[in-house]
Amino acid sequence: MHIVRYDDARLGVLVDGGVRDVSAVVDERWRGTPYAINALIAGWDELAPRVAQLAASAPSVPLSEVRLLPPVPRPRQLFAAPLNYRRHVAEMVDSTHAPDGLKAGSSPSDLGFFVKATGSISGPGDAVQLPPLPDRRFHHEVELGVVVGRTARGLRPAAARDHVFGYVCLLDITMRTEGPHQEERTLRKSFETFTPIGPAIVTADELPDPGDLRLRLWVNDELRQDAHTADLIVGVDELLARASHVVTLHPGDIYATGTPDGVGPIEPGDVIRAEVESVGTLEVAVERRPW
Ligand code: MN
Repeated sequence: MHIVRYDDARLGVLVDGGVRDVSAVVDERWRGTPYAINALIAGWDELAPRVAQLAASAPSVPLSEVRLLPPVPRPRQLFAAPLNYRRHVAEMVDSTHAPDGLKAGSSPSDLGFFVKATGSISGPGDAVQLPPLPDRRFHHEVELGVVVGRTARGLRPAAARDHVFGYVCLLDITMRTEGPHQEERTLRKSFETFTPIGPAIVTADELPDPGDLRLRLWVNDELRQDAHTADLIVGVDELLARASHVVTLHPGDIYATGTPDGVGPIEPGDVIRAEVESVGTLEVAVERRPW
């Protein structure tokens, strides 16, 4: 199933190019709030049959007539893997903006995860807004995003997949500076609108192997990134399991699994198109931040 949020915080399922409203499945106290999707994910085992029923019977609204919102606007936690593709590690080591202490063999195996502010999340209809900092550069990173389905701690990798609700196309927009002395990674990646996700969550049953997906990203129709999740150094199961040994994972939490090589600058006026095979295409404009 392809699950979206749209208009006045409704929950919908995409069927044949239309949106079917399934908002009614979640408890009234969450309906119309940013947390309705968390309630849907947390209650999925019980709610899925009713969602499927509405997806088959509710009136269909053409996708062009709705405003899509970020599918999970308020995850409790937004994790991200640093340096999880070898060729991206190499391009960072060779760059003029490599953070202090970056080594050729670095990966999430030794570095673990970092977190982004959840307030950086934006949706398919929102522009990426670059803050007015003339001596900084802003880079695109296309990533497979994993949406956690069940509360979990201390997971073994073999049990991790069972705790995945679904997948999203995700951009990890990043501020970079020349020279080794950069702001904390958390700040550089947490500006508002620096984590576009969507357009839909594709449920895990439709994607048996998240390690077999092509990722691509274009800026103004120029192909910048083209890679495959088979090249992840640390795969989805291991990433979730390791994080769950640090802190309890919650339904709706998002894990950005890392970007491949080809990261590069974006400027106001650009249009970014990011695609994760079988998961979706996210197209967002880039603007100067108006505040
Ligand atoms: Mn990243």
